[in-house]
Amino acid sequence: MTSLPQTGCRTTPVLRERGQREVFCGLTGIIWLHRKMQDAFFLVVGSRTCAHLLQSAAGVMIFAEPRFGTAILEEKDLAGMADANAELDREVARLLERRPDIRQLFLVGSCPSEVIKLDLSRAAERLSAIHGPAVRVLNFSGSGIETTFTEGEDACLASMVPALPKTQEKELLMVGALPDVVEDQALDLLAQIGVGPVRCLPAKRAELDPAIGPNTRYALTQPFLGDTHAALQRRGAQIINAPFPFGAEGTTLWLKAVAAEFGIGPEKVDEVVAAPRARAEKAIAAAASTLKGKRIFFMPDSQLEIPLARFLTRECGMEAIEISTPYLHTDIHGPELDLIAQGPVISEGQDVDLQLDRVRASRPDLTVCGLGLANPLEAEGLATKWAIELVFTPVHFFEQAGDLAGLFARPLRRRAILAAQHPNRMEAAE
Ligand code: SF4
Repeated sequence: MTSLPQTGCRTTPVLRERGQREVFCGLTGIIWLHRKMQDAFFLVVGSRTCAHLLQSAAGVMIFAEPRFGTAILEEKDLAGMADANAELDREVARLLERRPDIRQLFLVGSCPSEVIKLDLSRAAERLSAIHGPAVRVLNFSGSGIETTFTEGEDACLASMVPALPKTQEKELLMVGALPDVVEDQALDLLAQIGVGPVRCLPAKRAELDPAIGPNTRYALTQPFLGDTHAALQRRGAQIINAPFPFGAEGTTLWLKAVAAEFGIGPEKVDEVVAAPRARAEKAIAAAASTLKGKRIFFMPDSQLEIPLARFLTRECGMEAIEISTPYLHTDIHGPELDLIAQGPVISEGQDVDLQLDRVRASRPDLTVCGLGLANPLEAEGLATKWAIELVFTPVHFFEQAGDLAGLFARPLRRRAILAAQHPNRMEAAE
């Protein structure tokens, strides 16, 4: 493990920008949430644009009953000429009659539903009274007016917290929607270390939902869960502060922090993680040979930027020029900032033109950004990594650490091959 930097970035002055942003909306989160929560249905109350976004992001599902859909707001709804609430009630009744497997129904707000001020929290209460207790109806916003795409998951999980039952048990709550295979690996490691009982939010099915109380200790697996964190605090649960389980170092530190909370010393964790950690380090080293010494610029998009910058600088030998995140929560990101050596600009929010000027001036080897910015930057001769890939690929814990490093190495390798094959064209772009 690399030693701690003498001075981390926690006290680095933050460049705050509040200008135009280039991000996807929070509806995107439904793509991975609907796979995770097997008896949930996500009903977007939105426009045809929202339906197209979901359909193209998720692909057309032919063989499975889909677990998301869009209640389309037509022009007469938007003009206030129809009673959108009555139509929504009818749609929900039709859906639940056709799909008795649904136990949790999320009404998901969108830009159009917010523009016409459709009160989905009242709708959720009304529909819960009609269809509960068999079906729990909740609501959250995935609107692009005020969210980045990972805030959709945060809003969804935060909406669930007040409805969870109470407990006095001391339990670990692992918070964040991980792919099943990754969640199983984490649960296996925790069991070997001796941490338990362990619950997950979100659970795979409603009947497995965790209970919450003052003895709940929760560890976030995703750095974008600020509202869920606040909702859990309001229920009296206590956070376990730790770096996030990205890379060999991050995963070890996360497990050690959790173990310490349950009275288990670091030597036990070292013993359990020795073999998977060695595998992870070997896999990371294979990609790090491409990444070492390369300069990286993070534009604000996925909210994974700070933990990934820590991983790439400390375990892969990269140099961060700017680490930009949509929101900086010092209480969540503090342990990560402590590990990042001073040097990079730390920025929050975006003024996209100003930030693009900084990218062009510094000409990084790799820029992590949203899809909308990647192609123009590539056309200018800059290698890019789409931030959204990072949430669609399993990247947490030891067994995925090599893949995580590989995601960043791949565009650099591709660029090196293209440069070798077409040297004149690459020079022209640059
Ligand atoms: S919620 Fe807003 S940004 Fe997202 S697809 Fe619908 S209209 Fe577009």
